[in-house]
Amino acid sequence: MTKQKEKVAVIGAGVTGLLTACMIARKGFPVTVFDRQPFPPLNASSIAGGMLAPFSEIETMPFAYAEAGLNGIKIWKEILADKPDVFFRQEGSLIVAHRDDQYMIERFMRHLDSAGELWKRVDRKSIEMLEPDLHRFDQGIYLPREAHIHPLQAMEALGAYLIKKSIKILQRNVTPQDLLGDFERVVDCRGYAAEASDPDLRGIKGEIILIQTENFRLRRPVRLMHPRYPLYIIPRPDNVFAVGATAIESAGGDQLVCVRSALELLSAVYSLNDNIAYARVLNMSSGIRPTYPDNLPRLTISENGRYIRCNGLFRHGYLLSPVIGKCVAHYLETGEQDEFFPLFSGRFNHALC
Ligand SMILES: Cc1cc2nc3c(=O)[nH]c(=O)nc-3n(C[C@H](O)[C@H](O)[C@H](O)COP(=O)(O)OP(=O)(O)OC[C@H]3O[C@@H](n4cnc5c(N)ncnc54)[C@H](O)[C@@H]3O)c2cc1C
Repeated sequence: MTKQKEKVAVIGAGVTGLLTACMIARKGFPVTVFDRQPFPPLNASSIAGGMLAPFSEIETMPFAYAEAGLNGIKIWKEILADKPDVFFRQEGSLIVAHRDDQYMIERFMRHLDSAGELWKRVDRKSIEMLEPDLHRFDQGIYLPREAHIHPLQAMEALGAYLIKKSIKILQRNVTPQDLLGDFERVVDCRGYAAEASDPDLRGIKGEIILIQTENFRLRRPVRLMHPRYPLYIIPRPDNVFAVGATAIESAGGDQLVCVRSALELLSAVYSLNDNIAYARVLNMSSGIRPTYPDNLPRLTISENGRYIRCNGLFRHGYLLSPVIGKCVAHYLETGEQDEFFPLFSGRFNHALC
């Protein structure tokens, strides 16, 4: 007789919770998702840029995470194979800098040495071939394996998948302790809100602006390296671009964007091409990135295995949560670690439950 699968609760319907719930559901576990907000919730996931950029941030992340990130992109492709309505592109990304800041490109190339053939130095002509509307840059870096996704569309598609599988997404403010009586396993994906019960966690505020213009085109995300105003711009459907993102060591305040951040982001994006001057500003928003002291994600499991915590996705929620979700699902099914598990774990917290 086959053993009945254990009941699993997932707390949090951000990208981490949704992807983890999907992966667990695929293994046949009965899952219930809880979020304190109506679906789709307003959180770090819903306002994110949506870059799937394992190499662009290699300065702050050991190379092993870039390899995991490539796996994350592969998992997204599998998940989205039958969801053509979700905007996803893998056309690489481009890193550029203004003439005075070329040294930043040189420095970044040294970090990329470990990435072997997975990047290319590009000159003015190649930059213009890749992105005809970028004329101001003599040198840059092309990262062909990087991708980008529309975050809210992706969340809605994951929600629809869960509902199709008869998995409930309940609007309820809960703690893991509330659920451990009714569920055999509780997976905690509360993002920064878990800070009260996880003293290592801190919030890093990120602000992002959506603009729209018919007078500027991009095929792929572009990062502008700048000593004061680093920036990325990510193309979305309907000539919309996400321009981000600040990184402010504070989780305080509201969801609004402050004047200084708006000025800095918009001035920096305007420096890419004069035609951006008359772009319409559609929206400005901010979110809190859940972050651990080493800026790396963590998968923590209690000694009895009933409480699992996935958090600290920082700048890589979209890139790495497919990989973490898969680790959790594999662990629930087999009790064993898959190949990426040690990257996120190694920190079993016996005090949790
Ligand atoms: C401006 C900005 C740009 C970003 N750009 C990118 C990018 O380009 N690429 C990338 O990979 N990452 C990006 N990130 C990072 C990414 O957004 C985060 O790493 C990711 O969203 C974290 O997801 P999460 O599901 O862990 O947390 P969240 O998205 O914060 O979700 C947590 C959920 O838990 C719910 N919750 C909390 N407490 C409770 C409770 N007690 N009961 C029930 N529900 C609860 C909340 O309502 C929320 O919906 C960006 C972040 C920001 C802010």
